[in-house]
Amino acid sequence: MELRRIGVIGLGNMGFGMAASLKRAGFEVLGFDISPARRAMIEAEGIIFIEDQLALLRQVDAAVFSLPYAKDVEAVVTAEGGLLSRKDASVLVIDTSTSDPGTTRRLAAALAAAGHGLLDAPVSGGPSGAASGSLTMMIGGTEADVARAEKVLAAMSAKATHVGPSGAGNIAKLVNNLLVAAHLVTTGEALRLSAAAGLAPEAALKVVNAATGRSAISEVMVPRWVLPASFDSGFSAGLMRKDVRLAIELAEESGVALPLSQHVKQLWQEAGWLADQDDFTRMADYRDRKEMA
Ligand code: NAD
Repeated sequence: MELRRIGVIGLGNMGFGMAASLKRAGFEVLGFDISPARRAMIEAEGIIFIEDQLALLRQVDAAVFSLPYAKDVEAVVTAEGGLLSRKDASVLVIDTSTSDPGTTRRLAAALAAAGHGLLDAPVSGGPSGAASGSLTMMIGGTEADVARAEKVLAAMSAKATHVGPSGAGNIAKLVNNLLVAAHLVTTGEALRLSAAAGLAPEAALKVVNAATGRSAISEVMVPRWVLPASFDSGFSAGLMRKDVRLAIELAEESGVALPLSQHVKQLWQEAGWLADQDDFTRMADYRDRKEMA
């Protein structure tokens, strides 16, 4: 059955833009968020805000989730009177949250037993990528579900890669974000060194970005959010902390030792000067911080 009516659950920095991109692509879009404050924003995009997630889940062909934590995804999937008891149609859940592969596989099995599908489809590209429908998506799930979701995925992403079975998208995302977390630390430290040794960080950055030390952090994030000290990328330090924690938990479950990454996780967890609601790009701030003196 063609997916025409799409419900978006979680209308925050990412979900709001995804809902707008789906609407622009011609889908009928319904939205739900536990925060009623999101209602006016979403209605201004011509999207119907549904006040009850169960009412939304009863009506849609597919449900796109953009939720903070795996526990939120689990709560929505297993809500009493929700998807697991819906029998009239096969609903496809497209979970774009950064979640963990174990939870995804468990929920995919429960949904499959109830006749539904689940793709883990975490994303990269931030709120601007969500709003312009140009995210990068890494997808885990069955070929049949990926084929069924094709138009929905195309409305939200510029590049959607099916990386493997259920949970594979989550693994790819955690691998990526472990690197992001580390690069934010190392790039900030390298620029701090430059400043302390007498070379302006802006000058050092130009060289790095033309040489071998560069990354998306040095090429995009530092120039956009750190040099001008705007720190408004739309991704919170709290969610980055979650990603590093999930990556290290995955390493432990997989029996692999990642000593440097363990230390990166500790730096993120113990950075008392960085509040969960702060922008995550503050981690690469090379300017003096009194707490670090
Ligand atoms: P956010 O905090 O801005 O938005 C999350 C939204 O979910 C909030 O509006 C919140 O009220 C709502 N919510 C929470 N629990 C809910 C529930 N049970 N039912 C309905 N709504 C609920 O977060 P975000 O930055 O949009 O991130 C969403 C997901 O995308 C996270 O898993 C994050 O790790 C991931 N992600 C974010 C970015 C980014 O740049 N912001 C990039 C890639 C991936």
